[in-house]
Amino acid sequence: MKNSPISKITLEGREFLIKRDDLIDPYLAGNKYRKLYTLLKTPKEQLTKIISYGGTQSNAMLAIAAMCKKKEWEFLYYTKPLSGFLKEQKRGNYADALVLGMQHIEIEEELYRESITQLRLNLDATTVIIDQGGAVASAEIGVNVLATEIREQNPDVKVIATPSGTGTTALFLACALPEYKVYTTPSIGDVMYLKEQMQALHEIPSNLIILEPKRKFHFAKPYREFYEIYKKLQKSGVEFDLLYAPSLWMALLEQTKEKILYIHSGGVSGNESMLERYSKKFQEISL
Ligand SMILES: *Cc1c(COP(=O)(O)O)cnc(C)c1O
Repeated sequence: MKNSPISKITLEGREFLIKRDDLIDPYLAGNKYRKLYTLLKTPKEQLTKIISYGGTQSNAMLAIAAMCKKKEWEFLYYTKPLSGFLKEQKRGNYADALVLGMQHIEIEEELYRESITQLRLNLDATTVIIDQGGAVASAEIGVNVLATEIREQNPDVKVIATPSGTGTTALFLACALPEYKVYTTPSIGDVMYLKEQMQALHEIPSNLIILEPKRKFHFAKPYREFYEIYKKLQKSGVEFDLLYAPSLWMALLEQTKEKILYIHSGGVSGNESMLERYSKKFQEISL
């Protein structure tokens, strides 16, 4: 793969550079591509099966499904019981992952934690477990490849931004690029929670700055402000996801002044099902 390109957009009169990791592949894009990099480079004969678990519209789930399809690996994905709505829905990450061959297993709410722990026992050498959100220990290697691309492309900026879920991408990126300042915001939980998640992986370097959103947002809920910034960004020429990108863009506009290289973290494939929820919640939003 050659380096993902860098585009320019103007938002509220400010110019931003965007590293287009969203363009890498329709399904295997953004930071999930970076996090799965080592597995993607693994010869297919070395493995037979990937096991993972988590949310039923997860971007990681879809990326893993696309990888397993390419590699001809079995993919077992465990979740809590599905809503009837999602089962019938023929669009979105869940439907796409099924088409790519994902085998979905629902576990009763009460048994979920214990069953996920059990998955790790008695694994054979050709099976790999990927923790929720695509958290694999080797994620650092893929993020280092991203860092190398940025150095090669040498954009005219000293500041980078990318949104956080587990914080894996932002953390390893900041570690790999000490000469840049890296901004991020939490999308799941608050700043404290994000710091704890990061510290479990690595000491937080001083060039990583976690911006605190002005108000609290719950993960994966529709918010009018999110839709507004999503639309503005779309008008400026690039589509971003509706779960992670909006609160970072809001924080960047409100709390920063520098010229920024924003690393597109992907996730655009999830917008179709999110937009459906937006149109149900807000009358003025139509599909
Ligand atoms: C998974 C994901 C993130 C969060 O990445 P982490 O490495 O877990 O912080 C951000 N943006 C998008 C679009 C994602 O799918």
